[in-house]
Amino acid sequence: MHTHSDWKRRADTIQPRTHAFIDGAFVEAADGATFPTINPADGSVLAHVARGREAEIDRAVRAARLSFDSGAWSRSAPGERKRVLLAIADAIRQSADELALLDSLDGGKLIADTSTIDVPGSAAILQWYAEAIDKVYGEVAPTSGNDLAIVTREPVGVVGAVVPWNYPLETAIWKIAPALAAGNSVVLKPAEESPLSALRLAEIATDAGLPAGVLNVVPGYGHEAGQALGLHPDVDVIAFTGSTVVGKKFLEYSSRSNMKAVWLECGGKSANLVFADVADLDAVVDFALAGIFTCSGQVCSANSRLLVERSIAEDLTERIATRAEDIVVGDPLDPATTMGPLVSDTQLTRVQAHIDSARAVARLVSGGDVLHGDSGGYYITPTVFADVPVDSDLWRQEIFGPVLAITPFDDEEEAIRLANDSDYGLAASVFTDNIHRSLRVARALRAGTVSVNTVDALDVVTPFGGMKQSGFGRDLSLHAFANYTALKTTWFAGR
Ligand code: NAD
Repeated sequence: MHTHSDWKRRADTIQPRTHAFIDGAFVEAADGATFPTINPADGSVLAHVARGREAEIDRAVRAARLSFDSGAWSRSAPGERKRVLLAIADAIRQSADELALLDSLDGGKLIADTSTIDVPGSAAILQWYAEAIDKVYGEVAPTSGNDLAIVTREPVGVVGAVVPWNYPLETAIWKIAPALAAGNSVVLKPAEESPLSALRLAEIATDAGLPAGVLNVVPGYGHEAGQALGLHPDVDVIAFTGSTVVGKKFLEYSSRSNMKAVWLECGGKSANLVFADVADLDAVVDFALAGIFTCSGQVCSANSRLLVERSIAEDLTERIATRAEDIVVGDPLDPATTMGPLVSDTQLTRVQAHIDSARAVARLVSGGDVLHGDSGGYYITPTVFADVPVDSDLWRQEIFGPVLAITPFDDEEEAIRLANDSDYGLAASVFTDNIHRSLRVARALRAGTVSVNTVDALDVVTPFGGMKQSGFGRDLSLHAFANYTALKTTWFAGR
């Protein structure tokens, strides 16, 4: 168990990789162009990273295509792919502290989370897909006579993965693991706020035996590297996690280029419904806080809307407001910190603007303060609003920060109607001690995941993704293979 000073000491020794990783080697961007990546805990520049644009994306896609066509990975035996991916999972575990630090320094994420959840979780997901490789079978179709039709899954080719900054390593692994397991080659574009762990991952994977060109990482801005990947005519599939606005751009890029398949995990405004029949309200408070304040509220499935049955609304609101004050906001490298900074100055300004306009329409019961402190970091206190009008921006827009909106409801029907009255449909939670109600409500909620008596239930064994404008396609579980494989029918005419 490392202390705050252990982590700080180790952070000082970190040497981030800053070049793009293409065809098995680190390369500079054309003209040596770079962009700064910032430490949100103090606003300092962590590193200047290669600024990938069209030329670097093109180079990476060519390398990916060549590696795919060579068959070195795409046609390798399932057992061989399994061996290499397991070796990468092991190597991630060997480099766990370094990767955890990179995501904490780059994304402002709690070291308490990156070292115990994100990095071990990433290794476990990779291992899970590695182990699945030689357990997924094709089909034999029920044809007539002596004909035989087999249905097999083939890798699609070159996968472009574009990911955000809130879970930099883990979200990348969500895409890369099933894509590589299926035999594809990948070009990963990490978020400009948090490119460092992805660059190190590519190096780790290559050292562990992944052939050159199979995993390429091109850091850069969204409107440059991201757009170039989305428009590239030789990319077969885009797997995207990020905002709904940018997700829609990828659909447009596809239609303007080669009609590549696009899978989108986008924004959310997840509702958490609490019914008065719940006996253990303190447990609900714990879950409600975790549901919104984990990762400083920068979670796509954050339970940012809390709907509470009117008879307990005031009591629950008070308990939540009181407990929110106990959250320790501070340096993400201190294991005692329970909420770190927001990822960037831009994000801080956005969230602050939301809070400022919400003050006019709802009752602020906790937080609402920006804490630049002496560090210069992007801190904000856990914020709770009650009596939030359901037509307000606070209720309807994804804020992506530590801001909880609470509103009361009178009956089950109203709770379901309010929960579903959203552009988004990523996740929802229901708290009730009545099993019949939990089944009824869970069925009625339009969300990709409904957690009952918990929040944000998530595991590699279950699919994760959205309905409505939260996107389509699923990460995790065997269902993710559908994103990265094409079905092929081969029909043998019988005599
Ligand atoms: P974002 O959409 O701004 O960026 C995501 C990625 O897209 C980044 O790599 C970025 O560089 C790239 N990008 C940005 N503009 C682009 C453009 N014009 N063309 C091509 N690529 C572009 O999102 P963000 O601010 O990094 O992350 C926050 C958003 O991500 C929130 O809306 C959140 O809900 C969503 N998110 C969703 C999930 C999920 O699984 N559903 C998970 C995490 C985050």
